[in-house]
Amino acid sequence: MAKDKKQELLDKRYLKMADIWAQNSYCKRRQVGALIVKDKMIISDGYNGTPSGFENVCEDENDKTKAYVLHAEANAITKVAKSGNNCDLATLYVTSSPCIECSKLIIQAGIKRVVFTESYRLEDGINLLKRADIEVVQVDING
Ligand SMILES: [Zn+2]
Repeated sequence: MAKDKKQELLDKRYLKMADIWAQNSYCKRRQVGALIVKDKMIISDGYNGTPSGFENVCEDENDKTKAYVLHAEANAITKVAKSGNNCDLATLYVTSSPCIECSKLIIQAGIKRVVFTESYRLEDGINLLKRADIEVVQVDING
């Protein structure tokens, strides 16, 4: 099998896993899942939610997302920060394209490739990643 085709298949499978992982999120408005793969190993995972030790409720009484909810990408990256590993040259798989705040973390963590399924309404995160020479790929997991 050609190398590109093989990568495409792998990308699709990791994204499907990230999509399943998103179901762990107790956020009602939106559920996002992320995986970090380095040297052909999944080194981290994340979904959007409140920080460790906080109650598992993402929305306030007005159904607005609480300010301290971490995005899936931020949870996956900070989980690596707590471990002995690092994200240098890793690939991030995420079900929805990263926002600008997560994109800053992705750049600083040394991640070199971002693969996502759904386009987030704002493009500024993706544009920032591209400016930092990070490969950004959109993959349709149902295609
Ligand atoms: Zn984000």
